[in-house]
Amino acid sequence: MKNWVIALPLFLASNNVDANSIKPRKPKNIILMIGDGTGLVHLYAAYTAKGGQLNIFDYAKAVGISITAALNDYITDSAAAATAFSTGQKTNNGMIGMGHDSVSLKTIAESAYEKGLSTGAVVTCELPHATPASFYAHQPSRKMYAEIAKDMTYNQAATILVGGGLPYFDTNSLKTAGYTVSVGINAMQQNRGARQICFTDTFKEPLPAPQRGPALEKGSMHAISRLSKNKKGFFLMIEGSQIDWGAHKNDSAHTLAETLDFDNAAGVVLQWVKKDKNTLIIITADHECGGLTLHGYDSLNKRPVMHFSSGHHTAEPVPVYAYGPGAETFSGIYQNTAIYDKMMKLLNLQSDK
Ligand SMILES: [Zn+2]
Repeated sequence: MKNWVIALPLFLASNNVDANSIKPRKPKNIILMIGDGTGLVHLYAAYTAKGGQLNIFDYAKAVGISITAALNDYITDSAAAATAFSTGQKTNNGMIGMGHDSVSLKTIAESAYEKGLSTGAVVTCELPHATPASFYAHQPSRKMYAEIAKDMTYNQAATILVGGGLPYFDTNSLKTAGYTVSVGINAMQQNRGARQICFTDTFKEPLPAPQRGPALEKGSMHAISRLSKNKKGFFLMIEGSQIDWGAHKNDSAHTLAETLDFDNAAGVVLQWVKKDKNTLIIITADHECGGLTLHGYDSLNKRPVMHFSSGHHTAEPVPVYAYGPGAETFSGIYQNTAIYDKMMKLLNLQSDK
């Protein structure tokens, strides 16, 4: 198999020099929002369906482009892409928090925890799914749900985890590990535990939008209220997980509903970030999914005509939107691993790379 990273153009190196020469104001907290499988076109479809408005577009102070290729494949999966964000290393598709040699890599959540920051993840998939797993687990395959759930149970780096996948976890082990466990959105909002794992429902996979309700918005704000108690700061990853699932199925309605749900959560989080003034928010995707194009405007249903050219991920680079202290360093075109590098630098965290 080809090593795509080595084959990539070298002009990207000069871009890093530019970014490094800027002396940005540093944030106390970083929120990384990932729309799984969400290309520019998915967001523009949501913008169109909202009548020409999108919270993510409104707040974007700096816009960059992220190249998403995995180490062993031109087209990444969510595991390799999330590992690039969480560890700054390109790895093979399917691998969770590990290099291609199966050596565990310290994640940004673990580095932040070591420096006394609080960390968390809020997702609309099951918690052992590839993206959240890559921040709190280290396994050679994303399919190893039992091992990933165990890693997430005993990884002390997480202050709060919100998402689905209750059946994959042993609640007694979670309690032994120090988690206060809650099930349901209302119970989550009552959860006052120092360490919390909040299952938004009892299913293996959470319901699609809009049936699952405002789990992402409420979960994100609940996590922020817990994490912002730490005076040293926090790192939070929020994922709109099912945009990708809608796109895999070439299901326009599901893709659109999930993208709107993601933008709705982003809007509420962005309002908090705006008030806080010490938080940097980065909104991006792990990869594009579906090869989505818009072929016109459906005035009857007030939405774009969405055409998918693939049932899989594509190689299309994805946008990166940033707002808050340090946002300007996210302008430019760079590898997805640079997002980790920039976040680590802005939080004054030391990388083991
Ligand atoms: Zn996918």
